[in-house]
Amino acid sequence: MQNNTAPLESNGFDALNLINPLCRAVNDEEYTSPTPIQMQAVPYLLEGRDLLGCAQTGTGKTAAFALPILQRLKENHQPAVKKRVRSLILTPTRELAVQISESFAIYGRYLNLKQTVIFGGVRPEKQIKALRHGVDILIATPGRLLDLYNQKCLKLDKVEVFVLDEADRMLDMGFLPDVKKIRSYITHHTQTMLFSATMPVEIRHLTKSFLKDPVKIEVSPPSSTVDKIDQRVLFVDRENKSALLLSMLEDSSIERVLVFARTKHGANRIVRNLNKSKIKADAIHGNKSQSARLDALNKFKTGKVRVLVATDIASRGIDVDDITHVINYELPNEPESYVHRIGRTARAGAAGIALSLCDLGELGYLRKIERVINKSVIMEEDHLYHSNSVASKRGRSMHSKTKSPQRKRFYGSRTSAGKNKRAVSKRKNASHGRPRRGSSRRSRI
Ligand code: AMP
Repeated sequence: MQNNTAPLESNGFDALNLINPLCRAVNDEEYTSPTPIQMQAVPYLLEGRDLLGCAQTGTGKTAAFALPILQRLKENHQPAVKKRVRSLILTPTRELAVQISESFAIYGRYLNLKQTVIFGGVRPEKQIKALRHGVDILIATPGRLLDLYNQKCLKLDKVEVFVLDEADRMLDMGFLPDVKKIRSYITHHTQTMLFSATMPVEIRHLTKSFLKDPVKIEVSPPSSTVDKIDQRVLFVDRENKSALLLSMLEDSSIERVLVFARTKHGANRIVRNLNKSKIKADAIHGNKSQSARLDALNKFKTGKVRVLVATDIASRGIDVDDITHVINYELPNEPESYVHRIGRTARAGAAGIALSLCDLGELGYLRKIERVINKSVIMEEDHLYHSNSVASKRGRSMHSKTKSPQRKRFYGSRTSAGKNKRAVSKRKNASHGRPRRGSSRRSRI
């Protein structure tokens, strides 16, 4: 890690009183101003307060906790002690753990702090070795952390800062007993932060036992939908979903798309169908090995595959910029999952497009989603597989989209793009592209 003390140009981060090496790192990332959660959380965290953060995905919450942690660890520099962990970040999935670790490496690049990441599904030897001489920052998933703790590979009695990230997902995945056990190994003087997008009753109880007089920060109400995302629903008969997806993907403005399936087998089936039609796609779900999941994610990040098909749990760690579209091949039965899913296309203030395929059996899910997001999702009927019978069961009055030539869009052809001139010419006229962060280009769908 480098140490660079040259003066900095001032930017919106000045108000946060961060030390120079952190300001430099943030500058390198071209962050011009803190996101709302960073603005609100960082000053309290620098004072050492506990924090309860209710924040949507993509709000910049990683930097909101990483920057003050790095500052605290640097300012109270401690010589290395065998197996000691100074700060612990607990997160539900391996992908998220890797991503948080990458963020710490970026923000801490001008500090000389030691960090490592541990998760299951890989051999533990390297992880044990990395812990041997102690670390300043440990990012971990609960199962592997407990395994290595029980094998006495690390000590938690000197943890100064503890972060529980995505607490609601920990609950969904059945990790709460492990999390409580881990908390009991940490001293109660530790500064503790708990982040959760939603606040089910179990998490509210957890906050009471984990946090002392916490600052409560709610960046936007739990489960409120990300406003910048253009959301549409396409009514379709179940047997036509696969053909509809293929025709949608003929639209080249759908550049990098995350497709959600309800089950692992369903995700595999979608990938097989897309590959048969020469569309580069890969799946990410719990049945895949750790290395296969990271491999799929990397291919998606680098643009080697255009379509990543995910299940809800696997999607939690996906922080990929410039996902132009999220397609819900199947609607989730929990409305909160819908919010998490579509949030993948609106990272840190970027706009995005979310398209949901809804068949007759899913109308109930759509109604629940609309109740939670407190608005109705606009119907997109200008596609080849529109099902009038499904649409009519939804009720027409408030939901139906008024067609205007400017807003009209069309998804692909039943056979091939070449045979369907209408599709091609309409696509040429429509601007479906999503603006990149900081750009003024605005999508029209
Ligand atoms: P997170 O919610 O922590 O997963 O962050 C989502 C994305 O926002 C990541 O790609 C970060 O690099 C990016 N990000 C975080 N803070 C800022 C900021 N202040 N300005 C612009 N982008 C940011």
